[in-house]
Amino acid sequence: MKISVYPLLLCLLLTLQACGQQSIKSTKQESIKAKDMKKTDSYWKDKLNSEAFRVLRQKGTEYPHTGEYNLHFKEGIYSCFACKEPLFESTSKFRSDCGWPSFDSAIEGKIRYEKDTSVGMVRTEIICNNCDGHLGHVFNDGPTNTGLRYCVNSVSLDFKSEDKGEE
Ligand SMILES: [Zn+2]
Repeated sequence: MKISVYPLLLCLLLTLQACGQQSIKSTKQESIKAKDMKKTDSYWKDKLNSEAFRVLRQKGTEYPHTGEYNLHFKEGIYSCFACKEPLFESTSKFRSDCGWPSFDSAIEGKIRYEKDTSVGMVRTEIICNNCDGHLGHVFNDGPTNTGLRYCVNSVSLDFKSEDKGEE
């Protein structure tokens, strides 16, 4: 009886070890990828137009009702304007009168959330996980079943239509 327990234990140990190695490996890959686009302000100053730099790198806000994607409802993917990482699907976009493109959910793992206490309010800032670019804020007053409203600066976004080649 005693002998038959050992192979089982050994097997379990090997499995646990394999799992451990796998998770370390995937974390490492993610951090390398994420680190790729964490660039300095002078890098971004060269790459971005002045309005995109002000919003994405200096946490600015575009003037409401002016953004290219505010009332834009084509099918496709919205990505980060700076690093081109996909962030939102057009199916999550909804018509909002707040003046900025609004989404009820983001593509999983693409957004980082940080508490923002500037301008005398407590808000949740949304940041591109890949390049640290400021996107906007997320609020709990969304009209759809997620209850969320990702309020995103148009200038922080790029759009790719699902129709080939069209943008
Ligand atoms: Zn980005």
